[in-house]
Amino acid sequence: MATELTPSDGLLLVDVQNDFCPGGALAVADGDAVVPVLNDWIAAAVHGGALVFASRDWHPADHLSFAEQGGPWPPHCVQDTPGAAFHPDLELPDGAAVVSKAEQPDREAYSAFDSGELGEKLQAAGIRRLWVGGLATDYCVKASVLDAVQLPELEVHVITAGIRAVDVAAGDGDAALQAMQAAGAILEHAEPA
Ligand SMILES: [Zn+2]
Repeated sequence: MATELTPSDGLLLVDVQNDFCPGGALAVADGDAVVPVLNDWIAAAVHGGALVFASRDWHPADHLSFAEQGGPWPPHCVQDTPGAAFHPDLELPDGAAVVSKAEQPDREAYSAFDSGELGEKLQAAGIRRLWVGGLATDYCVKASVLDAVQLPELEVHVITAGIRAVDVAAGDGDAALQAMQAAGAILEHAEPA
């Protein structure tokens, strides 16, 4: 089904950063495959006057999630490094709003809504439908979607073709999809018009 976006739609691109793509410090298998899919959504958003938001993991070099500090991950998405940059093929429009997260050394944040700023922007702009894609399904996409469905009067759709999972344990990605759906997110396959 082709979906036309309008000014009351928002498109949230979660962490489409080099470190989460093949060759990166915390690569998600096939992570860069989301880029052409999301570019089609970006084009539809620009065409329809929808707002585009791009979140990014934006860590200090001593972030608590890094193995050296006792965290679960290798260092990744360190502020102002090439690994933290958006994938070079992602066609972010000039008007896209960048949402940085987990910028403090002593705090983790998987959700793009962590600071509250994104939720306020969506409400202020009168966004009624939010389309979410990006990386990774079982971490930051899931956390962002679970926060988004809590916002009043917002219908949340997951762009199922435009996400990929880390799958630290087999099935994590599928479990994340189920959790998002159970929370009220819409998972039907949709294509931008
Ligand atoms: Zn991180």
